[in-house]
Amino acid sequence: MATLHSTLGIVLSRRDFREADRIYSVLTPTRGKLELLARGGHKPLAKLTPHLELAAEADLLFVHGRTFLTLAGVERRRQFMGTRTTLGELLLIQNSLSLVDLAVRPEERDPLLYALVVNWLAFAGSTGALSDERGAFLLGSFLLKLMSACGYRPELCVCLACRSPVAPGGYRWHALKGGVVCEACAVAQEDQWFHARRIEDATLKLLRFALVEPFGSQLRPTLCEQDSERFHEALESYLITHFPVIPSVSIRGACVTTLVAA
Ligand SMILES: [Zn+2]
Repeated sequence: MATLHSTLGIVLSRRDFREADRIYSVLTPTRGKLELLARGGHKPLAKLTPHLELAAEADLLFVHGRTFLTLAGVERRRQFMGTRTTLGELLLIQNSLSLVDLAVRPEERDPLLYALVVNWLAFAGSTGALSDERGAFLLGSFLLKLMSACGYRPELCVCLACRSPVAPGGYRWHALKGGVVCEACAVAQEDQWFHARRIEDATLKLLRFALVEPFGSQLRPTLCEQDSERFHEALESYLITHFPVIPSVSIRGACVTTLVAA
């Protein structure tokens, strides 16, 4: 008889598989991301799935099948979305989970990443009504923290080349190389830093804030349209050059509630 394994996990995504089966992608604290097959043949799926909604944290039982890990039991612990979840919160949660699904490689154990996602979901599900601008900024903040947890932390404080702290107005941004370079290095090694471009102090400040400050504080910064736009430009350029898979929508576009409602 196959050994039964158990783990705590958060459902990141699900997809139909074969005729009646379904595959769940689940983030776990001790086994990284797992793909679990829920068999639909003999009705166990109907018993399991009510506990397997998106963004639910659950205790999962599974066995090693021939090709797949097969789900054998589920007990839900916590649901981060409910009947009172606003559209803005729903978009935040859905988009962030699909970013986690794209960013995390299978079976890479990372309890800190798991804690980050739990912390984020608890926050994102309690933000109430949000402006599209704020929603996009929050998702941006989550993305920066997620990328850091996955080993792609941008350098926003010291020059990538000489490691000295960058002074206001005295640096450029190089998405591919992963952060800021001081003006002196950018000029001295022009061939290497050819693609570095100027960004505003306000943009760098927002990026730093979004990366370092806790989620609860991310409701604070004033977001004028121009600053938001520049923040997202820098963020997208970083995402495109470092993320393992490029998401199909922009971070800013992902949180537009008015478009969804129309
Ligand atoms: Zn330098």
